Amino acid sequence: MRRSPRIGLFGGTFDPIHSGHLHAVRLVQRRFALDRVFFIPAAVPPHKARPDLASARDRLRMTALAVKGHSRWTASPIELRAAGPSYSIRTIEAMRRRFPQARLFFIVGADAFLEIETWREWERVLHRCAFIVMTRPGARLGAAAGALGPEWKTSLHRIGRVKRRGELDGDPPCIYFAAIDALPVSSTRIRALARNGAALKGLVPGTVAAYIRKKRIYREKSAVSPACSFPIVTRRSEKSR
Ligand code: ATP
Ligand code: MG
Repeated sequence: MRRSPRIGLFGGTFDPIHSGHLHAVRLVQRRFALDRVFFIPAAVPPHKARPDLASARDRLRMTALAVKGHSRWTASPIELRAAGPSYSIRTIEAMRRRFPQARLFFIVGADAFLEIETWREWERVLHRCAFIVMTRPGARLGAAAGALGPEWKTSLHRIGRVKRRGELDGDPPCIYFAAIDALPVSSTRIRALARNGAALKGLVPGTVAAYIRKKRIYREKSAVSPACSFPIVTRRSEKSR
């Protein structure tokens, strides 16, 4: 019998999406045999409002550029279309309605999972969707597992290589911890580099780097482009003389 399709939901601020995200998803997708992965930029990240946050539109566009050419990856506008802040519970419920036969796996880094109890209706979230928690440099899986109280212990599973058939077919709550060779890349570092116009080679796909450069996303707001730095007032002041 054919198993139900497995769909990964990878939410994030993606400000911008980077090679650490793509590499981690590639590894997790292979290990968990995910048929599709949706990359879901958050429209109004409740925990993360920063003055230099790129617009949701730009973050979605960069995400779309990054997944282009991968037949099993999709950049999803679902959280941009919903009114108000992005809450994972809404996204999960909407995806369950859209794919009633599928098994859903929410993918998060260990650092993000540490804050799970701050998520809106977090217990319901864990009951509606399996979770894959993956290593991220600087955030240990053990610490992430400790984010939940002892009553969750039977729902936690460490997944090395998936061997047994049906190993991933339990009903939620199922929280799978996957140690992966993650890359030490973060959006914070990329924004800092982009602020001064530094090269982003290897940190984001080339198409994303070109988009950031062209649209001057993350550039210092006070930075005046050379074309505007000449005294535009000269002609008027000549006239008024
Ligand atoms: P920022 O520095 O702005 O917080 P970020 O690099 O952490 O950005 P996010 O958009 O916050 O990127 O992360 C989205 C998801 O991807 C989170 O679950 C996060 O833990 C995970 N993640 C981010 N970078 C990596 C990485 N290098 N390896 C594995 N997972 C990652
Ligand atoms: Mg982050």
